[in-house]
Amino acid sequence: MNGFTLGTQGDAEAGGILIGSYRGNHVQVRQCTVPLRRDLRERYLFDRKDRGHQLAATLAWTKSFGTETFVGEWHTHPEDFPTPSMIDRATWGKIVRRRASPIVFLIMGRKGLWAGCGHRGDVKNMSLVSADSP
Ligand SMILES: [Zn+2]
Repeated sequence: MNGFTLGTQGDAEAGGILIGSYRGNHVQVRQCTVPLRRDLRERYLFDRKDRGHQLAATLAWTKSFGTETFVGEWHTHPEDFPTPSMIDRATWGKIVRRRASPIVFLIMGRKGLWAGCGHRGDVKNMSLVSADSP
């Protein structure tokens, strides 16, 4: 990690991909990439332009003999409790229509997290279990 800061601390959004595996009904996230040099980082936009994200997924796939793969994406929003933007919805729609397996989408805000799961062309909110819940 060189010069990595979360968008919640600076002016630009941050993001990356989630890498993991599918086990029965579960998605196990094991690694994530962080913003890379060629990514497009703006105040309200993060675009994974750097090839390093795809390379990390390919490397994980090879090293795990085909069990670890791209399972989702994360990025930050400069708002306390984030909600997906129209661009987020459009981008995710393209991803989930291309894939048969569920995909995890995370948005980190300043105080909260938005989590969703995309499957069969549709992205649904995941309910968040608070740390305070019994
Ligand atoms: Zn977004």
